[in-house]
Amino acid sequence: MAAGARTQADTATRVVVMGAGPAGLTAAYELMKHDVPVVVLEQDPRFVGGISRTVEHRGYRFDIGGHRFFSKSQEVEDLWTEVLGDELLTCGRLSRIYYRGKYFDYPLKATNALLNLGPVETVRCMSSYAWARIRPVKNPKTLEEWVSNQFGHRLFSIFFKTYTEKVWGMSTSALSADWAAQRIKGLNLSEAIKNALLPQKQGKQRGAVITTLIDEFRYPRFGPGQMWERVRDLLLAHGDEVALGQSVEAIHHVDGRVTRVTAVDASGERRDVTGTHFISTLPVRELINKMDPALPEPVRQAANSLKYRDFLTVAVVVNRESVFPDNWIYIHDPTVKVGRIQGFKNWSPYMVADPKTTCLGLEYFCFEGDGLWSASDEALVELARRELAQLGMCQAEEVAWGVVVRQPKAYPVYDDVYKQHLSVIKEYLDTALPNLSLVGRNGMHHYNNQDHSMMTALLAARNIALGTHYDPWKVNTDAEYHEESRITDADMSGRLVPTLAPVEK
Ligand SMILES: Cc1cc2nc3c(=O)[nH]c(=O)nc-3n(C[C@H](O)[C@H](O)[C@H](O)COP(=O)(O)OP(=O)(O)OC[C@H]3O[C@@H](n4cnc5c(N)ncnc54)[C@H](O)[C@@H]3O)c2cc1C
Repeated sequence: MAAGARTQADTATRVVVMGAGPAGLTAAYELMKHDVPVVVLEQDPRFVGGISRTVEHRGYRFDIGGHRFFSKSQEVEDLWTEVLGDELLTCGRLSRIYYRGKYFDYPLKATNALLNLGPVETVRCMSSYAWARIRPVKNPKTLEEWVSNQFGHRLFSIFFKTYTEKVWGMSTSALSADWAAQRIKGLNLSEAIKNALLPQKQGKQRGAVITTLIDEFRYPRFGPGQMWERVRDLLLAHGDEVALGQSVEAIHHVDGRVTRVTAVDASGERRDVTGTHFISTLPVRELINKMDPALPEPVRQAANSLKYRDFLTVAVVVNRESVFPDNWIYIHDPTVKVGRIQGFKNWSPYMVADPKTTCLGLEYFCFEGDGLWSASDEALVELARRELAQLGMCQAEEVAWGVVVRQPKAYPVYDDVYKQHLSVIKEYLDTALPNLSLVGRNGMHHYNNQDHSMMTALLAARNIALGTHYDPWKVNTDAEYHEESRITDADMSGRLVPTLAPVEK
């Protein structure tokens, strides 16, 4: 790979990247292309990729939530191709909602939804939708108000409330409308019905398609972790360091500059790593609490007010060639705890060790330390086995074995105060410690997918390597989200779309 010209960074520049998830590794990869030396510190002793890692157990591979590779940004798509080439498979999407013993196509298809809901419920939903159009809640602040405005309260209760409350562990009336606006911008019942009834347009006409309804995406042959393992290998081959099992414990700063970080390994051995620039993908709350000396009280208070939702996956191997054809199924049924079930073999057949078996990922949303989180692995595998049987997906005895992976801070919570806390932190760091850049998902407390996490990292890396002044905080700030926002013709032109384009500060 050709190393880009190093125009601005001087020869003494050395960057310390905290975290080897998609954002940290993308930043390092970009710096490598500009010949800027970089060291990446990652707390995980085995895996790179962060939430986008692929865990492997007895030859079976699974994601921490299925990870689609799809981006409106051609630059990100090209980067993925550059790194993995033919190892990226193209996947057709199939996902459904399980509700009251029935499977609803997702995205909703009119005939299927009508048949499943029945005529009486359908009339109720349509009346409730009509009411929402006539009398929408003005300036909707909560998720419940926002979604009810778009779909009517009745459909909101059926298709959004239970699942969203499972995901966030809080009432939809306490969740900020921001999350819904980011997730499902541009989609309302009329659009959903239109998309369900009208054939999807091709090529240039794809401009009109709402991307929730995208039915194809890419996926690495061996899961998302393969992408990040390859980036790690490229960095190592170039002579850069990606140090695993190194947990950043303290970030030291002197006279308005971060000067070094202290990392500690599993044996307790400490290591100081110095640099001229620092890129953090650590959860904002952790980062602020690790600063030495401590930051002013209002900044710490703001950080400590940020909340997270945690997640665990129970991956089970089922003695059946196929359990269902879907990539994933949303479980809206309130009688079970599982929120979503992944069928990893349907993402890539290379995810299973034995083709006569299937590997399913039962996803449970929880809070670190709550009953689910603290349950033993055996109890969780047993729960998964029971719930699969209860949902009628397979017999309990067909579940051969299972493993549990816990993922703390899977989701940054958008409550009604997170924005103001985040701006306190951002404004302070911008001026007080300009050689520290925050990027990524938890790194910016932003509900970013891989692509947006990567874009923030690309901008931060370019600022260091090229002396530019892009503002990573502007990525995704118009609440657009790849899964649900519109693809316009401009997006297909191969340039970064305006909303995602680097914006000069
Ligand atoms: C259930 C689920 C499904 C998802 N599905 C998709 C999808 O389909 N498509 C998609 O593109 N994205 C998806 N995402 C989002 C994607 O996982 C994230 O956008 C991406 O992983 C964020 O990258 P990151 O580098 O910012 O953060 P992370 O992935 O969180 O990586 C941060 C890294 O920092 C490390 N770290 C933390 N603290 C320390 C410390 N003190 N010292 C050293 N290292 C530390 C962590 O171990 C981790 O490796 C999904 C996320 C979830 C939760």
